[in-house]
This record gives sequence, C-alpha cells and structure tokens, in this order.
Amino acid sequence: MARDYYAILGVDRSASDQELKRAYRKLARELHPDVNPGEEERFKEVTTAYEVLSDPQKRQIVDAGGDPLDSRGGGGFDGFGGFGGLSDVFEAFFGQGFNAGGGGAGRSRGPKGRVRAGSDALVRVTLDLEECASGVRQELAVDTAILCDSCVGSGSATSAKPARCATCGGAGEVQSVQRSFIGQMITARPCPTCDGAGEVVQDPCGKCGGGGRVRARRSIMVDIPAGVGEGVRVRLAGQGEVGPGGGAAGDLYVEVRERAHPVFFRNGDDLHCTVRVPVVDAALGATVPLTTILGEEALVEVAPGTQPGTVAELRGQGMPQVRGGVRGTLHVHLDVVVPAKLDHKQSEKLREFRDLRDEEPEVVSAASSHTGGLFSRLKEAFRGR
Ligand SMILES: [Zn+2]
Ligand SMILES: [Zn+2]
Repeated sequence: MARDYYAILGVDRSASDQELKRAYRKLARELHPDVNPGEEERFKEVTTAYEVLSDPQKRQIVDAGGDPLDSRGGGGFDGFGGFGGLSDVFEAFFGQGFNAGGGGAGRSRGPKGRVRAGSDALVRVTLDLEECASGVRQELAVDTAILCDSCVGSGSATSAKPARCATCGGAGEVQSVQRSFIGQMITARPCPTCDGAGEVVQDPCGKCGGGGRVRARRSIMVDIPAGVGEGVRVRLAGQGEVGPGGGAAGDLYVEVRERAHPVFFRNGDDLHCTVRVPVVDAALGATVPLTTILGEEALVEVAPGTQPGTVAELRGQGMPQVRGGVRGTLHVHLDVVVPAKLDHKQSEKLREFRDLRDEEPEVVSAASSHTGGLFSRLKEAFRGR
C-alpha cells in the first residue's frame, strides 16, 4: 500500500516545488527532535515525504500510484539511517529559519557550510560554418577552479578536522545592534572570519590556503555535434568550477560563435547562396556545379528560360539538425547577368538575334511586371513612414 506523501506534508497533489519546500520547512521546524523530542517519528516521516516529493523521478512514481521507497526493503520508514539523501535534504535548508528562531534578527541564513557546490563556467568557441555543419572535435583551453591536489579538497595540511569558527560561534554570520530613531535595529552579515561557513580550517593547506581549490588552465577535448550554430551551448557535466572546500564542480558550457561564410548565408537549417547566370545560359538552360557546405558536389539545374530572381531549391543540401534527421534546404538564387560590354562581333550576333525575335520594349501594368514587387515595394516603403 502506497503511502500518501502529499497528506504527510499537508500539501495539494499539484503543489509546486516552492510550496513543498515551504510546507516541509514549517513542519520540520515544529517537529525537529531538538525542539520536540516526542515527535521524532513524525519528523522522520515528514522528512521522508519531502525527500520523495522533491525528487521529480520519485514524485512521478507517487503520482502514478506507486511508492518509490517500496523497493528499498518492503516499506516502513527507515528513519535516519535508511537512505543517503536524508541529511542532504535536511541540511539544505534546516540551518535557515531554525537558527533564527529566537534571534529576531530577521532573515538569518545560518552557516553556509565550508563545502559548497561549484558554479557553472562558460567558454566560447568560434567555428566556421563548415565546422558547424560537420561537427568538430576541438581542444579548448579552460580556466576554472580545480580541486587542490595537495589536500584533495580538504583545505587542511594535516588530517585535523575544521573547527567551529570562534568569531561567529558557528552561525556563519555576525550581528550588530544599532540604535536609530525608529528603535533598535539588528543587522546580520556574513562572518568575515569564516566567510559564512561557520567553521574554519585549522591548519590551512599551503597550496590552496584552505580553500580546497586552486585556479588552473587546462585543455580539454570537446566534441561539438554537427548542426550547431550561433549561441548554441554544449554542456559538459562536471567540468565547471570546483566549489569552495572542494565541493562538486558545476558544468561547463561551450558556447558557439558562428563565423560568417563567404558563400553561404544561414537561416536556421536553410542555406542561401547566389549563382550568377549569364543571360544566354538563363535563356538556353545550363547545369551549374556547386560544392555544398559539407563538401558534396551538387548540380544546380538552370531551366531554359530562367528569369532573374528565380530561386532553385536543393532539398537536403542545407545544414544538418543537431539532433540528426533531415537536412535543411539550399536555396540557390539565380542572378541573371546581362553582359555589360560587347565587342563588335557579339553586337552583330545580338542584332541578328533581335531581328529574329522581333520584340519591342513595352510599358506593362504593375501586376504583370515580372519584377512584380516594384510597386508594392514602393508602397510598403511609403506606408512605413
Ligand atoms: Zn589544498
Ligand atoms: Zn565565522
């Protein structure tokens, strides 16, 4: 029979993470064994319920009618020794509020602890469009905090344990009382001696000065997948900054900058390029060889009678998608070019050609003009003012 973890915490089944946290914090404060020794069982129950519901995967099991803890030995609350997550959950916010209980100092945060998770780091890499299209394996220099190899993160030169900070008595913050015209004001600020940790290393490591981490430049190999582009971030788990006291490293994000390409213009997965087609080839038709962004040889068919402004579409010859699958389209804009200069013989031939065509320039209606957009473009331009 599945336990009703929502009822234990006294929250709705639709409760947000924030509401869960609030409910747990309130109950934990009331039921903590230091405050209320008789309520130890309920305190464990409440903590277990929170541990389950704050884990999205376990919450999913609960919502599906199961009990994620059943597999851990046939039900029953194991209490403190039962599972590893408990003390983490507890420490994550117990310091808060609980310490402030009698102080009246407003928002007391309690000691932050000496070992804290590291933050994420970001490096940028500039790639050619070809590299974005094919993906690339690249060596990158990264500058982050890494674990101090001398003390392996403990911060201590010897095996001595850190001691409670004498300045703040372990609270992680110091309070000062000021008298002002509105009365007595108590302000709290992080303890300057322990930087809010509540404890200090007694015999600091000579290499890291007790912090458990040092800054270093290292090179790492990064596999950037095909299809990336400007602003796309590739995440490398656990390659970010090591935390204070040797805490778990954050993630490293490699952000792509895309270098402009001399031939191809990118629009999402689609590419655009321009091919200049001599007027005779536009009239007679032609086949133009073209090298795609991935180096394939493609052929652009210029149909006989191709007009200026025609766009040939080569499906599947654009950029690949990051998650695989179909490639975008390569749009080849056909720029029909009229010869600017003719020699005597060429002029003669064209005159012959004109006689054969027997055509005259004529004024046409705006709608039938093949440069059709002209009037509407002008109208748009004026409307925009
Ligand atoms: Zn060290
Ligand atoms: Zn302190």
